[in-house]
This record gives sequence, C-alpha cells and structure tokens, in this order.
Amino acid sequence: ADLIRGSSNVVFHTGAGISTASGIPDFRGPNGVWTMEERGLSPKFDTTFENARPSKTHMALLELQRVGILKFLVSQNVDGLHVRSGFPRDKLSELHGNMFVEECVKCGKQYVRDVVVGSMGLKPTGRLCDVSKARGLRACRGKLIDTILDWEDSLPDRDLSLADDACRKADLSVTLGTSLQIKPSGNLPLLTKRKGGKLVIVNLQATKHDRQADLRIHGYVDEVMTKLMKQLGLEIPEWTGPAVVESSELVKPEPALKLDPDAQRPAKEEPCSHHNGTAEGADGIRPGLGTAREEHCDGLKQECPGSGHSPVAAKRVRVESLLT
Ligand SMILES: [Zn+2]
Repeated sequence: ADLIRGSSNVVFHTGAGISTASGIPDFRGPNGVWTMEERGLSPKFDTTFENARPSKTHMALLELQRVGILKFLVSQNVDGLHVRSGFPRDKLSELHGNMFVEECVKCGKQYVRDVVVGSMGLKPTGRLCDVSKARGLRACRGKLIDTILDWEDSLPDRDLSLADDACRKADLSVTLGTSLQIKPSGNLPLLTKRKGGKLVIVNLQATKHDRQADLRIHGYVDEVMTKLMKQLGLEIPEWTGPAVVESSELVKPEPALKLDPDAQRPAKEEPCSHHNGTAEGADGIRPGLGTAREEHCDGLKQECPGSGHSPVAAKRVRVESLLT
C-alpha cells in the first residue's frame, strides 16, 4: 500500500493465478495444467468460460482503475474475465488473446462475444465481419478469426506496444499470479525497473524475476488484494454480470453523458446490432450483456433474428489444445 501511495503511475500485470479462484486452472500452481500433466492427470475446470465469475482480484483491479491508481493493465490470460468484469478495454492489453474476441482479417475490427468464439490459434471462426462501409450499404464481409495465440504466433502488435509503452512510463509495476516465465510478457515488468521504477511480485510460487523485485509476496492474490484494498480504504465492487466497456473515458460521469437521456436508456431498448462487436463512440459502454439477459435474452440470442452471425453454442473449451 505504501509503494502504491508513493507512485503516480502504477501498472498491473496478471497471469493465470488470478483466475484459479474463478475455477479456471493455472499452469504451474498446485492443480495447474502442467503440474497435473506431470502426474499424468488432466486439469480440472470447475466452470465453463461463460459461467466463470471474476475473482476478488479482477474486481479490485477494476476499482483501482476507476479511482485512477491503476493506469494500465497487462494480462496474459485468455479467459476474458478482465473484459467481462467491465474493465475498460482501452486500458488493457491482452497479450495472448481472449476466448470471447474475434477479429476481422480485413478491417481489424474486434467483436467481443457473449460466448467463446469456438476456435483457437488465429483460425477462422466461420463468421464474417458486418461493419458497414462508408455509405452504409455494403458490409466488410472479411473473415473473422479468433485471437488466441498458438506457441509460434507473435503477440498482437497493438496490445504489445501499448503494454511496452505503459511499462516504460510506470513508476511501479505489480505482477499478480504469474511466474513470469513466458517471453516477452514475463519480461515487460522489468522495463519499469530499468527506467528507474519499482517492481512488486505477488505469486504463490517463486517466479523467474524474484531477485529483481523490490517487494515479493508469496501468497494467494485474492488475500493480498483484499488486504491491499482495505489499507487503501477502497471497496472491492460486486460483480453484477458480464459487461463490456470499450473506453475508460466513458466510465467517468461526464456532463455530456448525464444530460443525454439516450445515454441512460436501459439495454433492452438499444438496437440489436449494438449488442455484439466493438462498439464505437457513444456506444462505448455496453452495460447490458447481463441486464439484457435478465430481460429477455440468453447470451447471443439477443442478436437480431436472422442476422446470420450467431456463434457456435456455448461449450466447454479444453485448454489442452492451447498447450500442445
Ligand atoms: Zn471487417
């Protein structure tokens, strides 16, 4: 807490360890994918990606961003929990992809879906881009691919350069639930150190860069974050269901938003076409995947009927294919 109070630009880095409390196995933890594999066992999923709830750590990070302490978040996780917790996507780099995001190969538009997109390794998902061209008559129709990297794939340019930049500017990098062994993601926190900043490592096990840390805490991230938030006098917000927030600007209570009655319309009155994909401009906040579901819809079924873009049914995705 003192290190955070004494810093003006704090970047957090997260790994699989922050999602074990959400029922998604990590890699090197006691029940991790690789630990189990060594014993000839399969990793255990306590949930599906769609049903996983953000952990206390996910929600604490959301609050730290809202109050202006956390300036940028770099994650190696592909479970989509940061985005589904409502963390603003413009303050987040997902270096290894997101199970819920598909991207147009032609125009680059990203669509955040309500269910996992169904493929891995940057392969076509079977759906096409529906971005309207300038005159609004023809859609882009580019092929959509998933964003999950395979071992040989290079990291997404935009996410990597934003993360790189944020780490150099930061005066404090805090890593949570990662052994920092995967390159280049695991080395990014060292950039902060190299520029004269400080490094804090929170992880159950030893990490690759423990010797470089100004402070190491070997413990459960949820416990550490709960205590940290208490020290800082901050509440960990409750999660109220999946919500996608594109821009941090739109989270702040700006007068323009307050005065615009349209901006506060409940999700059920929004046009169907806004429920999927990377909303732009005034539609940056989509408070509504959860709300809409309660009203009358089940996940992506809230799309306009006959739009032809419904992803495959929600299914349990096994992580093995990510690792072999
Ligand atoms: Zn496109």
